Amino acid sequence: MAEKITGKGVIHGIATGKIMLAGQNLDGYLVNYKPLDATTEKEKAQKAIETVAENLQKNIETFQGKEEMAAQAAIMEAHRMMVQDPALGEAIVSMVEEVGSAPHAVLKAAEAQAKVFEQMEDEYFAARAVDLRDVGKRIAKCILGVKEPEIGEGKVILCGHEIEPSVIAGLPTDKIAGVILGAGSTTAHAVIIAKARALPTIVGVGDAISQIADGDDVIIDGEQGDILIRPTETDRASYNEKIKQQEELKAHYATLKDLPTVTTDGIRVELMANIGSHMDVDNAKSYGCEGVGLFRSEFVFMGREDIPNEEEQFKAYKEAVEKCEGNLCVIRTMDIGGDKPLPYLNIPPEENPFLGYRAVRISLKRKDLFLPQLKAILRAGVYGKAAIMVPMVINVAEFKKVKEYIEEAKMELAHEGKKYSDNVQVGIMVETPAAAVMTPVLAKYVDFFSIGTNDLVQYTLAVDRGNSSIAYLYNHFNPAVLTLIQRTITSARENGIWAGMCGEMASDPYAAVLLLGMGISELSMSAPSIPRVKEKIRSISSIKAKEILADVMKMEDGDEVKAYLHKVL
Ligand code: PEP
Ligand code: MG
Repeated sequence: MAEKITGKGVIHGIATGKIMLAGQNLDGYLVNYKPLDATTEKEKAQKAIETVAENLQKNIETFQGKEEMAAQAAIMEAHRMMVQDPALGEAIVSMVEEVGSAPHAVLKAAEAQAKVFEQMEDEYFAARAVDLRDVGKRIAKCILGVKEPEIGEGKVILCGHEIEPSVIAGLPTDKIAGVILGAGSTTAHAVIIAKARALPTIVGVGDAISQIADGDDVIIDGEQGDILIRPTETDRASYNEKIKQQEELKAHYATLKDLPTVTTDGIRVELMANIGSHMDVDNAKSYGCEGVGLFRSEFVFMGREDIPNEEEQFKAYKEAVEKCEGNLCVIRTMDIGGDKPLPYLNIPPEENPFLGYRAVRISLKRKDLFLPQLKAILRAGVYGKAAIMVPMVINVAEFKKVKEYIEEAKMELAHEGKKYSDNVQVGIMVETPAAAVMTPVLAKYVDFFSIGTNDLVQYTLAVDRGNSSIAYLYNHFNPAVLTLIQRTITSARENGIWAGMCGEMASDPYAAVLLLGMGISELSMSAPSIPRVKEKIRSISSIKAKEILADVMKMEDGDEVKAYLHKVL
């Protein structure tokens, strides 16, 4: 039997290949490095910074125009900016004074900056520490004359405690089969790239990763989180069947891409994509999405030092809207706060950030932030079909205030002679119990509802969405949650507006049947989930979905609902 270790499967699929340990150890080179005088060392560091920036620029240019490389190009661009950041340059120069050796100084300076990121509580920012170390290593390697690893025949499984994004980004798509990370972050850039490439990925392996050696044969299961080291023929045979099924499923899903999402009795549901960047739209379209149901615009604000101005935001939103080619592109106004703080806003720490100063509450207080965002979205609307969606609304007053700001944004745009769309729908996320209860009233003011179950479940059940010790209570089939969802959809229908869902529940095919029974119009999800939801909807009639819903709404417990759905569907 092979040795087996387990982590957290974050990107599904089975992959086989030889391990390539990523993240080269420079210790040997550093020990043998003989520094010269401080002036020469500073010059060497400066020269290496210029060379690395030039090489990154060359890579970015070769990626230009290749849609599948857009995410990698963006990360390389971020790295290029980090390499040329004067603050890093200055830190390196003063570190050379201290330690005398250019490569040591570079690594120390990058490490010091990485530590600052790492201490931030937000997972996204903490993950940027990896980028900084990556950048430091690139410059140090350049000084030391170390070449990047080369891969030969066959696909590799990249493995490392933390993998520098440049390692994945720099390898050809057809050379990587999967990714193993010792660290636990799901928002690390390495994972973001792996997701765009649909690479089976396991994170959080911890110290057990030391049992894996360079060149080891492995099989990884990105669903179960299992890693089989040096599998036997019997192990392989048991996985061969799974791999075959996976290939068949992939081929089958591909045949669904252009088919309409319609029940057997002709009821249509729109399947849209959740995105965090305008660069995600092309990948989402490859799964057959019919537009974007949630553009998490706060990601445009994150991973940078300052607030993106109207023009920068306009570019990002315009590109997303254009790529939707006439289909709807719902841009959510910044959902800052909670688990997504923005350090440069200097918001003091709070006892209960999820119940605190966040989302629309910040937007309404910070007109200097909100107005440029609204103006950017209204301008992007000229290039297709855009919608504005407001997060965390709890009452009518907040929405009325948002509408006033939108009018003000339009007036400013008209005054400045900038083109904007007058047909941008304005809706809200229904993600607080207050909003769900008040939907009969809110429906008179808004153009649409999009149910945000990630938060709605946590607020309704008083169960923190990120707390694994109470995860067993976090169930979107809890009757309290289902009642609020049904109320929302009914309120929308009775008032002639549309209701959709953009929380994770929308990607659950069993939930999709209930939502169909309730009369939902749109489901928005991470794009790879689209085919399986589409398949389920195409397999059932709306009458059957209503019957199942009627049974479910009589049930008293969320686990009972789940078990019943898995039995009948
Ligand atoms: C939600 O709360 O369901 C949602 C889609 O928003 P987020 O996950 O960004 O809070
Ligand atoms: Mg939310």
